[in-house]
Amino acid sequence: MFGGIEAGGTKFVCGIGTGPGDLITGQFPTSTPQITVASAVEFFRNNAPGPLDAVGVGSFGPVDLNPSSPAFGHITSTPKEGWEDFDLAGSIAHALNVPVRLDTDVNVAMLGEARWGAAQKLTNAVYLTIGTGIGGGALVFGNVIHGLVHPEMGHLHIPHDKVKDPFPGICPYHGDCFEGLASGTAMKARWGTPALLLPEDHPAWPLEAHYIALGLVNLTVTLSPQRIIIGGGVMQQEHLFELVRNEFARVLNSYIRHPLLLSALDEYIQPPGLGSRAGVLGAIVLAEHEWTEVSVKRAVDNYEERARDRA
Ligand code: ADP
Ligand code: ZN
Repeated sequence: MFGGIEAGGTKFVCGIGTGPGDLITGQFPTSTPQITVASAVEFFRNNAPGPLDAVGVGSFGPVDLNPSSPAFGHITSTPKEGWEDFDLAGSIAHALNVPVRLDTDVNVAMLGEARWGAAQKLTNAVYLTIGTGIGGGALVFGNVIHGLVHPEMGHLHIPHDKVKDPFPGICPYHGDCFEGLASGTAMKARWGTPALLLPEDHPAWPLEAHYIALGLVNLTVTLSPQRIIIGGGVMQQEHLFELVRNEFARVLNSYIRHPLLLSALDEYIQPPGLGSRAGVLGAIVLAEHEWTEVSVKRAVDNYEERARDRA
């Protein structure tokens, strides 16, 4: 039995189970780290039918994923009050006395989609969220990419025609990077109205589709994913998918001669198969990975101990 946490900047979603068929979930707003972790721990204590084998956490970030770093499992440089340098994985592991594995929210959603959602049976894919910010995770040969740190696809730099769109962008670091131009926060700042309230025929949508398509083309030519899944609040606008696919085809200009890219973009660019449960179910997959690794390590240690005893 596993625990999963989708740790977002505005809310935490916790789940207990082994997959989509038996998942129990609960959620609460993100508060101070102490209060929020205590709520998660209480959820698991009150709802788990027995002891959990492991917990997976998909977190807002940036997070430190380097096992040899002293800050491994910590949230690092977030502007979110109280959360900078917080040991999220360690505090949950300590409170529940279980192994905990942490990854970025988007890497974890990618894992969930690969296991049970829109990227099943694929080895290479991308999961992108367009919400308050923009973030992405990439599945490569069946594993999500970690590198020097972890990918930050929201900060791709994409062409910005300042005559057509004089909006300077909202990224505090780059101004008009992808997130700076196309996140929900950017849309609200550019148009003075939340994306949710912009009508379908508003010029905001073709412009938004243009920026998203540029981001997707860059990801396609860099990573060659077999599918791109786009979630997040802004993508709740279903009409946006068709605009994005058409603009993607226009920008890519038939350069890559694969049938999916030439005539099946509705298959290539999809919403999450798991809907809003991608994050919490991905966290269950991450917990399973941790449990497998811990179990194998235990078995090897036992074997070596017995071998030493015999010798
Ligand atoms: P977060 O990124 O904080 O996890 P969301 O993915 O829900 O949360 O993204 C929130 C952003 O998405 C906000 O900018 C909000 O205006 C926008 N948003 C939420 N719902 C919709 C909707 N139905 N249509 C368009 N924009 C939406
Ligand atoms: Zn940026």
